[in-house]
Amino acid sequence: MSTSNPTPMVKQYRELKQQHPGTLLFFRLGDFYELFFDDAIIGARELQITLTARHKDSGDPIPMCGVPHHSAANYIAKLVRKGHRVAICEQTEDASKTKKLVRREVVRIVTPGTPIDPQLLEPRESAYLAAICASGDSAGLALLDISTGEFRATQASGQDAWIKIVADLESYAPRELLFPASLGPLVKNGFTSSPKTAPLPLTSVEGESNTDATTADPARGSGGGNEVVDGTTHTPLDDWLWQTDDCGALLLKQFGAQSLDGYELKGKAEAIRAAGAALRYAQETQRANAAHIADIVYFEPQDHLVLDKVTVRNLELTEALGAGGVARSLLDVIDETVTGMGARLLRSWLLRPSVRRGEVEARHAGVAELLSSQVKRDRLRTLLKEVADVERLAGRLNLGSATPRDLNALESSLDQVPPIRQTLAGAESSLLQVLAESADELEDVRALIATAIQDDPPPRLSDGGVIRAGYSAELDELRGISSNAKQTIAALEANERTRSGISTLRIRYNGVFGYFIEVSKANAIRVPAEYERRQTLANAERFTTPELKDWEVKVLGAEDRITKLEAELFANVSRQVGSETQRIQGTARAMASMDAIASLAETAARRRYVRPTMHDGDAIEIVQSRHPVIEVFNNEPFVPNNLYLNNSTDRLLIITGPNMGGKSTVLRQAAIICILAQMGSFVPAQQATLPLIDRVWTRVGASDDLARGRSTFMVEMVETAAILHGATARSLVLLDEIGRGTATFDGLSIAWAVAEYLHDSPEHCAKTLFATHYHELTELAERLAGAQNYQITATERDGEVVFLHRLERGRASKSYGIEVARLAGMPPPAVARARDVLQRLERYELDVFAEESDALAAAAIASQAGEDALEKAATRAGRRRAAAQGSLFDLANQRLLDELRAAEVDKLSPDEAKALLAELRKRIV
Ligand code: ATP
Repeated sequence: MSTSNPTPMVKQYRELKQQHPGTLLFFRLGDFYELFFDDAIIGARELQITLTARHKDSGDPIPMCGVPHHSAANYIAKLVRKGHRVAICEQTEDASKTKKLVRREVVRIVTPGTPIDPQLLEPRESAYLAAICASGDSAGLALLDISTGEFRATQASGQDAWIKIVADLESYAPRELLFPASLGPLVKNGFTSSPKTAPLPLTSVEGESNTDATTADPARGSGGGNEVVDGTTHTPLDDWLWQTDDCGALLLKQFGAQSLDGYELKGKAEAIRAAGAALRYAQETQRANAAHIADIVYFEPQDHLVLDKVTVRNLELTEALGAGGVARSLLDVIDETVTGMGARLLRSWLLRPSVRRGEVEARHAGVAELLSSQVKRDRLRTLLKEVADVERLAGRLNLGSATPRDLNALESSLDQVPPIRQTLAGAESSLLQVLAESADELEDVRALIATAIQDDPPPRLSDGGVIRAGYSAELDELRGISSNAKQTIAALEANERTRSGISTLRIRYNGVFGYFIEVSKANAIRVPAEYERRQTLANAERFTTPELKDWEVKVLGAEDRITKLEAELFANVSRQVGSETQRIQGTARAMASMDAIASLAETAARRRYVRPTMHDGDAIEIVQSRHPVIEVFNNEPFVPNNLYLNNSTDRLLIITGPNMGGKSTVLRQAAIICILAQMGSFVPAQQATLPLIDRVWTRVGASDDLARGRSTFMVEMVETAAILHGATARSLVLLDEIGRGTATFDGLSIAWAVAEYLHDSPEHCAKTLFATHYHELTELAERLAGAQNYQITATERDGEVVFLHRLERGRASKSYGIEVARLAGMPPPAVARARDVLQRLERYELDVFAEESDALAAAAIASQAGEDALEKAATRAGRRRAAAQGSLFDLANQRLLDELRAAEVDKLSPDEAKALLAELRKRIV
């Protein structure tokens, strides 16, 4: 195997490699998968395995590394999780049956967005492959979970098409994103530099091949490391793969349909292109037609309560931000599902709550019914616990990777359907009724598996013993022959011993010679004449007889045939079960919904949640609301709070209060309660009356996005800008500490303007909760008709602050920041110094005017010729004083005055005095 004069195998390798650029080729050699050349270097590094070389001693060694085939899945998973694509190349003919180079083919390509192996799938999370494209002023998005066959597409047009599509894309957090290569720069740029000016890519002209494309085919990217952004691997595909006609034809073929109109895709060229590209990629990577992708659901962009990823993170919906094990997400608290399917559905409800009142109320009614009957709920959940991941089983079945145990699991899962339906019989909730009806008992499928497959089959088909006795007469007969072999051998052996008179004669078997008669050297002369010698060992001779040969053919033939026949029968049963995929999927989805509803009911029962009342008005009214996560994990009892917002008198709530008082908590709990209600859940409160909101916007805390080169403050402003552009009268906006990342005046000015804008803008006047330490903002409540002041209360007891966590009308008078610093363990001297400085600052605020004029006067005397400058400085100071009288802002000038005070004016020359004055004037805020 040399590179200059390649052996046939190197040639074969190169051909396969050439056909699959951008992948790491796992080349099957006996019991190993080997990687060669550059792939080996990457593989050895990423997998931390030894890099060796083939033909080490030749002048032209080939880098090589390998993994055993039985543990390859874990290695492949490791590579794929790092964003690599792995092409799995198998020997597709029996090596023992050919003298030539064994045939090899790539049987599957594993990519981050197309996982079907358990090693690459989270049981409770979907794994989406996404495809986006755009032309003209339209943009399209498709989402495909290949493990279950869930397939969705959407399309948006107009000025903000791209923004909408990207928001939807984000909410699915795909593992891999396909896009036309010509959109590369845009995607690389995070789609947009600013939300308003998001450019619509006009470069992708249909049918036009892009010569700059870096990749050529589906299932191809760069094997040597791909761009992974926020857990999504970016995969550009050549533009010609996105042609509407081809994509449409592919979808029709897949669904066995005549027209896409029935899928609501009529005239939706971008959705069709995105869906077609995703489907082709899935087929190419799986090397299977993936019949479980039998349908596509079109949805309007943003037809759910929109929660962008910033909001999902800020509200800790699916992941807790806090480190150290104790922190829990909202999902952790509310997820009581007992199946992976139910968990995935619940998660999707949480990330994309409904905006349709009918749907929301139907879920509430289902939850109410299961909440009121604990017996029914417990029974349903107990039955569902026995249900395996039928959605993914159906996927594996159609992708040719289902095992005998999968079929068994399918059967025992489907066995639960009749008692589940019985449990829900007579349900009053229309949703529960519909779900019970859509769960197909699939008697035919259950019966087929029950008669064909053993109860406890081995993990792999090749282990044998998979097909149940009685299912195939031929198989039973062959098994008879094979299992009688032992008895027959014993009989034959006894017979030959008698015949030859050699009592130590034995009939044995090995893989090379098959069955043979073994006699010790000493006895060899006594064997009958018709014995044929096969092999001579040191102390034994081996023989065969015509009778033994006949028998051997029969037995070995039977075993061979059993293996083949079992494989055929299993494939047949799998195919028959697979042909019922849609019924199975329908049942699986119904069970997932039941599980999700039962989970919400269980949570409501455990955590004392109440059913919210939804209405078409605009007021949010929550009595005694609680934060669902903090109330569970807080050491102290949670203090519930009332919340009221509407779009007229109470549309902007300015919330002040001490650090650690609970401002952020109250903001978050308002949003979380709206989200819970719209996902179908009951809510942590005594009573809640809620409108349907279209989006929750959040600007909370500080977060850097250094990877994209944006500072904390820039991130804050980008997020704020997005809110001001995108919020509507139906949105809920949470602003926590806006403008803290810059100078005080800048920050306050921005915060002020943002609050006013949201309050006044006719199209963006969202209900807003604004937590702030800028006490100046409380003035807004006096100026703006729809603004109200609230404070979180705290009190002092024995010189220490006591947080009451109560939300009350009015403005807070103190911040207690130093008290919090003390609680946080700041060294006592620093705390004492802070108190001292604070006192000084507070005193200084009162003294500032007198001191200021004294100091300025002194400077003027010293400057002699500085009359003019003095006058200007004094006027300016007076103006500032008037503007900021009584406010903390004067303190910003304290330093300046201190410097002035410290200046030894007697020693200054007139020029120096002038320069000092000019400098100080420049720095007055
Ligand atoms: P800062 O101004 O420093 O950001 P904050 O006012 O936003 O503080 P939160 O972060 O909301 O304060 O709350 C601080 C802690 O107080 C929470 O982690 C929680 O433990 C507790 N807390 C908040 N609200 C309540 C409540 N209603 N009942 C009981 N404990 C609460």
